[in-house]
Amino acid sequence: EDGSEDRMYECLEKYFGHKEFKSELQKKAVKSAVKKKRDVYVSMPTGSGKSLCFQLPGLMCDGKVTIVFSPLLALIKDQIDHLGKLKIQADSLNSKMGVKERERVVSDLKSVKPNIRFLYITPEQAATQGFQDILAHMVKYDKVAYFAVDEAHCVSQWGHDFRPDYLKLGQLRSKYPSIIWLALTATASKQVREDIFKQLRLNEPIAKFITPSFRKNLFYDVVFKNSIEDDFQHLAGFASHCLGDEEEFKKTAPAKRGCGIIYCRTRENVERVAMGVTRQGINAIAYHAGLKGSERVEAQEKWMSGESPIIVATNSFGMGVDKPSVRFVIHWDVPQNVAAYYQESGRAGRDGKKSYCRLYYGREDARSIRFLLQNDINRSRSSTCSGKQEMAERAMKNFDDIVSFCEMMQCRHKLFSDYFGDPTPECEDRCDVCKNPKKMEKALLTFQRLCMD
Ligand code: ADP
Ligand code: MG
Ligand code: ZN
Repeated sequence: EDGSEDRMYECLEKYFGHKEFKSELQKKAVKSAVKKKRDVYVSMPTGSGKSLCFQLPGLMCDGKVTIVFSPLLALIKDQIDHLGKLKIQADSLNSKMGVKERERVVSDLKSVKPNIRFLYITPEQAATQGFQDILAHMVKYDKVAYFAVDEAHCVSQWGHDFRPDYLKLGQLRSKYPSIIWLALTATASKQVREDIFKQLRLNEPIAKFITPSFRKNLFYDVVFKNSIEDDFQHLAGFASHCLGDEEEFKKTAPAKRGCGIIYCRTRENVERVAMGVTRQGINAIAYHAGLKGSERVEAQEKWMSGESPIIVATNSFGMGVDKPSVRFVIHWDVPQNVAAYYQESGRAGRDGKKSYCRLYYGREDARSIRFLLQNDINRSRSSTCSGKQEMAERAMKNFDDIVSFCEMMQCRHKLFSDYFGDPTPECEDRCDVCKNPKKMEKALLTFQRLCMD
């Protein structure tokens, strides 16, 4: 060792007050960035501490500034405030600031030893001549530590919030080839990842730090709706199986008890399922966009506190919800696409304990969803916006992928590892297909026969 690891830990404590890295991956990413040998790509879920992967290396370059590209002024403000509390100087250049303020920032950036450690900027601002001139000056006097691209998926048209101005960042790489780039994003598909590498013109070999998509403690299965007798009985039976031993359940404090989520596509289904399951004797509360804001808050609170162990919801539920003891996530209707399926089902088992992800699949449902998606496509054809049609067509293709997945004899975890470009995981018995292929094959055949009638 060259002592750089000791310095890393020193700075981690000195600037951030942390004694340890949040994960081995975070540590490795920082270490690689500090070496400045390769461009770095970091893909870890939200909340896992990606900012530190450019902030710590940036702080370890004395007297230099890290340029951080970020998509929104609101995000920029949060980060600058956060760094401010840690007594780390960060600033921004944007169209909203006054002349004086701007002059202060620019003259600091051009000084012999800038006080600013992080300059946050939107790609729109980065493209302006004013900024290009400042940057040229900084590079000439060797004042740039790194270029960091936060929310790097914005560079990809396949991502969910594409920003055309992110595409211009690739030109900076060509202009200043010697400066190391750090690109960071939450879990991205293989396609998005490849696009990030290409559009940002990152230099191969890129050092990649990617949280594997495989969730060992989650058991996935698909149940054919046509082959069950009573929907609500089946749901309630499965729910109580997942919630486990009743005595154990009662002994646990309500907020820490096992609980579950049932996702439905429509408000009508949410209401129907919540009522049906409750009638079976397990309290299930409804959550959808048709409820008043206060009703939604109340539903969520009842679920968080354990008063209502099950929440039945449309996909508007779950953003920012982080309950560790979710023992099951059921999709009563086919999810929108692989990414949504992964994200929604992934809310199960955050505490690492065994949990269940079940998808109830019916061809009838699939047909009616397909019908709606086809309507969207037809409507988008008459629209003047060409992007709309492309999006509607992509929604249909994504849906068809999920449908064929449901009717396929393939490891359920492999659906995700393929999508994210990870190696095929050692599933063993963590999905219905791998656990009992014969039984699954039989169920599939029965289902197909039923559908032909
Ligand atoms: P992300 O960008 O991946 O969503 P952030 O960078 O915003 O995550 O960090 C999420 C939280 O984790 C922040 O509150 C941050 O202070 C905290 N954090 C980051 N690294 C560490 C660490 N090594 N130890 C403890 N907390 C950390
Ligand atoms: Mg972040
Ligand atoms: Zn499997």
